[in-house]
Amino acid sequence: MAKANENYLRLPGNYLFSAIAQKVGAYQRSHPEAEVIRLGIGDVTQPLAPEIIRALHAAVDEMGAADTFRGYAPDLGYAFLREKIAEFDYRSRGCDISPDEIFVSDGAKCDCSNIQEIFSLDNRIAVCDPVYPVYVDSNVMAGRTGIYDEEAGAYRDVIYMPCTAENGFAPDLPQDRVPDLIYLCFPNNPTGAVMKKDRLQAWVDYANRHGSIILYDAAYEAYISEEGVPHSIYECEGARGCAIEFRSFSKTAGFTGLRLGFTVIPKDLEAGGVRLWPLWARRHGTKYNGAPYIVQRAGEAVYTEAGRSQIRGQIAAYMENARYIYEGLRDAGYEVSGGVNAPYIWLRTPGQMTSWDFFDYLLDKANVVGTPGSGFGPAGEHYFRLTAFGSKENTVRAIDRIRRM
Ligand code: PLP
Repeated sequence: MAKANENYLRLPGNYLFSAIAQKVGAYQRSHPEAEVIRLGIGDVTQPLAPEIIRALHAAVDEMGAADTFRGYAPDLGYAFLREKIAEFDYRSRGCDISPDEIFVSDGAKCDCSNIQEIFSLDNRIAVCDPVYPVYVDSNVMAGRTGIYDEEAGAYRDVIYMPCTAENGFAPDLPQDRVPDLIYLCFPNNPTGAVMKKDRLQAWVDYANRHGSIILYDAAYEAYISEEGVPHSIYECEGARGCAIEFRSFSKTAGFTGLRLGFTVIPKDLEAGGVRLWPLWARRHGTKYNGAPYIVQRAGEAVYTEAGRSQIRGQIAAYMENARYIYEGLRDAGYEVSGGVNAPYIWLRTPGQMTSWDFFDYLLDKANVVGTPGSGFGPAGEHYFRLTAFGSKENTVRAIDRIRRM
């Protein structure tokens, strides 16, 4: 008899964003006149930059001619894209990463959820709390997390590293149990916090000391505006010996619908004496047939002079929204953070309201949708996330409504 993977039954009932959609749907049915503004889901709203559209059209034309048509892409991705990534994202920042250490994919979500496959089930994972839910959920599906403790809102075998106002929403080094796999995400979703170079260096030193591997999600790297904040973990000394990095074109260049990302695995990186590069190469080759040629050409256009300038303009527009949200809420008396190096603003709910109570309150009183912090982990309780990805007009209207509340 076939048996299902019962690890899936250990996942908490409702994925956060379906729960939100259900609540908003019910509210709109009972208040059809309400004009709801969504500052919840982290999806971009600006159209693709002209330089990317140009590259897409050109690549489509190539696919329509016999002498330029392309079939399956090379396993690691096209060299024209990997060379640009190595040059602009790494070497220009002093990071020693070569094009053949870059694995092109259709986005960071798949990579950061699939990476756990190349590690033993015995490994103990550590995650920031609150955190992007995919890291924990993918390990639950694999059977690495133990049972879910309803009361604690946490899995028994996962090390949750609280990110609180006291530690600047960046985790302290674990004192009791040493994790084998450490998921770090900076700039952070959902808090918008960053880790300065010296703190990240301390993590790299810790991982090298204990033989742990850091899985570093830098999906929001393009939003960093302050000096002293590393864009890549490979800016830290010794990171090639302990870190894998994930990047995405989604928030950098508006590719959420187009799909493109990559993972960096240094060729000499080992876990318990086994090199990880060949394992991921084998997995990639076996289970994945590559991001489309057209999309990889669009990715290449992100690195042209015109592409970089247009994308900088898009990010600046989102960050202007972030500034408006941050300052508007701060002036209205809210305790806010994030929004400077990330498109996320993290606010403390007023009067000790739970995250979901504040969600209902905001929906009802201001017709604004945000994301309850508790959906990202136990330490997210009493916090709330707003995103800067809306239009300027909607952002201004939403914040003005919240200020009047
Ligand atoms: N990592 C983080 C921290 C994210 O917030 C997201 C998307 O919201 C992703 C990865 C997924 O990126 P992609 O669209 O490349 O799959």
